[in-house]
Amino acid sequence: MNYIETSTGKWEIVIGLEVHAQVISNSKLFSSASTKFGVSPNENASLIDAAFPGTLPVINSFCIDQALKTGLGLNGKVNLVSFFDRKNYFYADLPQGYQITQFYHPIVSGGYVQIEDAAGETKRINLDHIHMEQDAGKSIHDQSPTKSFIDLNRSGVALMEIVTKPDMKSAEEAATFLRKLRSILRYLKTCDGNMDEGSMRADVNVSVHRPETEYGTRVEIKNINSIKFLMTAVDFEVERQIKIIESDRKVEQETRLFDSSTGKTKTMRSKEDAQDYRYFPEPDLPPLILTQSRIDAIRNTIPELPDAKAIRLQRDYNLPSYDAHLIASEKEVADFYERALDSIKKDENAAKLLSNWIIGELFALLNKHNKTIEESSVSPEHMGELILLIKTNVISGKIAKDVLDLMWKTQESPDNIVEANGWKQITSFDAIKDSVKEVLANYPDKVVEYQNGKEKLFGFFVGEVMKKTNGKANPQILNEVLKKNLPIS
Ligand code: ADP
Ligand code: MG
Repeated sequence: MNYIETSTGKWEIVIGLEVHAQVISNSKLFSSASTKFGVSPNENASLIDAAFPGTLPVINSFCIDQALKTGLGLNGKVNLVSFFDRKNYFYADLPQGYQITQFYHPIVSGGYVQIEDAAGETKRINLDHIHMEQDAGKSIHDQSPTKSFIDLNRSGVALMEIVTKPDMKSAEEAATFLRKLRSILRYLKTCDGNMDEGSMRADVNVSVHRPETEYGTRVEIKNINSIKFLMTAVDFEVERQIKIIESDRKVEQETRLFDSSTGKTKTMRSKEDAQDYRYFPEPDLPPLILTQSRIDAIRNTIPELPDAKAIRLQRDYNLPSYDAHLIASEKEVADFYERALDSIKKDENAAKLLSNWIIGELFALLNKHNKTIEESSVSPEHMGELILLIKTNVISGKIAKDVLDLMWKTQESPDNIVEANGWKQITSFDAIKDSVKEVLANYPDKVVEYQNGKEKLFGFFVGEVMKKTNGKANPQILNEVLKKNLPIS
């Protein structure tokens, strides 16, 4: 059950997210300026982004297609007619004095994302809507003691705001949702999901209430830019709100900021100071009208998404659900997996072994070298070959780890590495029998002790044969041969 308990009884948590996702596009929403990240300040600021008098916005149709694709990928309804509105506020990094957004009639209504909840049950997190808006610029206050600087590179960049219903019941669920959303957007190639660079950030709405009662007053925490911070902020906020209610006070509806250095949230502005944005329809833009054929064309470009892929991986390769979801969560990982499996002719029994080695050893190597799977030094085909070598008992799993390390370092094929190092397992019964006989002949006393009941000496003999064969004797065969040659009298 999703509740927490304090000395005064049970509490339920309610969370709704407003996720800002930067649209993947070479140019901005209403100007042709570049969206490239990491260039020098104001290099990407056009006259439109700087709001020079006399300039007018022109809608970027690729950005619209991206939002439309996102809506379809998230199971929403794309509206054939939507409108842009002005949200008025004054800030130094907003030269227009207003943000163009979609307040009354967004481009996408509804939709949902499927997640697995704590009990392992599939749960839908419903979306309220997705709207488009332009990003603001950035004020820089730490470069001079007396001046502030403005960088308009982000000004006008297209954002999608994905607003959920208050459907999440714990910090973990909110984190799972955000991960899943990120995964889908990356599959769709409509947002890179890079939270470090600010391409994805979330405003987190949190409230608490007693079970079977109405929802509590929500607090909005602005601009959370990591999944870890999301969880810390929710945990802090839940505890703070419960304490307030337990001491007979009321939670104020307000906007708060999360301080990642303390793990706490603090007031940014209360409801009373809430701005009046004086929304009104943007007069410089006509209504956004889409045709059904355009929507259908975009629908045809949607790739197999993570849920469908995970189901297919389970069905086609008999993978457990856990493996299938992990492999499917990133398109690049799934592609690597399937290419590796193709290269060994989709051997069904190899599927689980391959998954183990990717999730375990390969992920560890990628982590250690701080690489993505696309930058992997080991190719999918070589990974497939390695799995075949293990499966056909050419090498043991233990030696396979050394082989993989060398594959990473040298980019050589596992076959060549095994050959060059003489790492092939000895699987011939006769060869192993010879070594076993030699060892037993060397330790006649121990053989007698064993036959008198000191059974744990079995391990000693295994060790000695392994020493003799440089660790290359196939363990199962060795066990078998040793048992045959060591009858207990
Ligand atoms: P408003 O109309 O005041 O902006 P919305 O209903 O649009 O509020 O909700 C904004 C966000 O807050 C949504 O993500 C929604 O899911 C979330 N939310 C609404 N009510 C609650 C609540 N009681 N507790 C937590 N989150 C909530
Ligand atoms: Mg709202």
